[in-house]
Amino acid sequence: MECPHCGHAQHKVIDTRDASDAIRRRRQCEKCNQRFTTYEHVAANLLVTKSDGRREPFDRQKLQSGIQVAAAKRPISSDTIEHVVSQIVEALQGMGRSEVASTVIGNMVLDHLAHLDQVAYIRFASVYLNMNDVAEVRTEIDRLMGR
Ligand SMILES: [Zn+2]
Repeated sequence: MECPHCGHAQHKVIDTRDASDAIRRRRQCEKCNQRFTTYEHVAANLLVTKSDGRREPFDRQKLQSGIQVAAAKRPISSDTIEHVVSQIVEALQGMGRSEVASTVIGNMVLDHLAHLDQVAYIRFASVYLNMNDVAEVRTEIDRLMGR
């Protein structure tokens, strides 16, 4: 997490409050001394709606391992994967919703992978989009190459 004022990564927690559905932390940047607030609840309490209508709690670890599988033996460092996961979690938190469709998260992953590595992108897409036949994968590759 970076300071919203200067982008510095080091800050200290000056106040923590446990509200009904969130842990609210007041933080102070160690560089510019500006204060900002973070909420650590949405991702923890976020429900993911699957395509069949089932809901399950958002699982950061599951998201990370899904990306790791797609990125296996590709030139993508674990730091990069961690960073992608953090960015997705932050984006989800920024939406401020209690439920999100699994497709929304999947598309966020695809957006990141499209910029990182095309093989990882296709691997993730084929699992995630349930692309079973070669023609669908081919279409997706063509779409990607057209970008
Ligand atoms: Zn700062």
